[in-house]
Amino acid sequence: MEKKNLQEMLDRIRAELSIFYEIGNAMRSTLKLEEILFIILTGVTSHEGLGFNRAMLFLINEEEKILEGKMGIGPHSGEDAGRIWTKIETEKMSLEDLIARYRHYKKGGSELDKIVRGIRIPLREDGGVLALSVLEGMGFEVTTEEARQKLAHDPVLQILKTEYFVTVPLKAKDKVVAVILADNIFTKKPITKDDIRTLTMFANHAGLAIENSRLYEQTVYAANTDSLTRLWNHGYFQYLLTEELKKAYENKTPLSLIMFDIDNFKNYNDALGHQMGDQLLRDIARILKTTCDGQGDVARYGGEEFAVILPNIANGKAFDIAENLRKAIESFQFKGQDVQPTKNLTISAGLATYPEDALDKEKLIYLADMALYEAKRTGKNRVCAYRSR
Ligand code: GH3
Ligand code: MG
Ligand code: MG
Repeated sequence: MEKKNLQEMLDRIRAELSIFYEIGNAMRSTLKLEEILFIILTGVTSHEGLGFNRAMLFLINEEEKILEGKMGIGPHSGEDAGRIWTKIETEKMSLEDLIARYRHYKKGGSELDKIVRGIRIPLREDGGVLALSVLEGMGFEVTTEEARQKLAHDPVLQILKTEYFVTVPLKAKDKVVAVILADNIFTKKPITKDDIRTLTMFANHAGLAIENSRLYEQTVYAANTDSLTRLWNHGYFQYLLTEELKKAYENKTPLSLIMFDIDNFKNYNDALGHQMGDQLLRDIARILKTTCDGQGDVARYGGEEFAVILPNIANGKAFDIAENLRKAIESFQFKGQDVQPTKNLTISAGLATYPEDALDKEKLIYLADMALYEAKRTGKNRVCAYRSR
């Protein structure tokens, strides 16, 4: 081999080793999935790393049998690209600096990131090149005219406006957990065999990191949810309420708390058995969750009591939300509900609001509970707001 070629090969290997070392360190420093994904994509796109123009990551959702776009890194236009790269070069940003920047960047992701997060691809033979990468467990190099023509109708590629790219599946042991699409859309720099080889080695590393982080997040989730209803459990409810009250205090915003209790639940259990009672709790949890839809956090406070934390929602609107929940339960045909005294399964609710009713967590819970007793005392299947006056 010529001396020049040998030197190039050595340089390349040295660069690869350094990327793996840096990225490996970064991945070990966190278990948070979002941060892991950011590190992976930074490795694929940064100049010090693999140096692709853009990289996008899609995670497998096994339950729904789809690929979900999770993150995209890279400028969304050629101008943007030029600006960002000049900045990276003039500031001599290392991989570590880029990763540190993540904590600032976090929420307000780029245009590309937003596009990627909206993509959902069915995991089927006809799901396009990304689905095929997963199903066949192999990457594709779409770098030729012929390949491009074959894929001209892949809707995802049209959304991403890419026609010259590589895909690579990320594996944990033998299971594919995600797939990356990388391209050089702005510089049109040829994607070489070496680029693909390095990317593939990197992908196996990254797949394992994703799997570890997912297992960790599942464990944390399981520890904070109630196993019967899959709502937040009592402990996490207390934690959430503390945190949300802190935010309400700092931002000078209201916070409402609703407590619910099933009416005559003992009767339902006694007549139909505890397994039917358990199913009823699951059904109610599902209705509460869908009816609240992003407005607040629903928890199982205790046996047949539920709580809804409504950050940034004042008393009047919270009352309407509680009424909607009450009505949703009232109108739902629960199995066996005609054993109930009113022939209908219903709930009662109490409501209290920060700061007008209470300034601290214990008092807020206590007052919402008082209002709930008031609703029970005055006939059930009602919502009562605590009245401090
Ligand atoms: P009220 O309208 O006043 O709320 O009457 P109630 O019958 O609902 O109230 P009570 O406190 O007498 O009964 C609550 C019942 O909830 C008693 C208990 O067996 C039942 N319960 C609590 N947790 C569970 C659970 O996890 N599964 C089942 N099946 N029942 C539960
Ligand atoms: Mg009760
Ligand atoms: Mg009850």
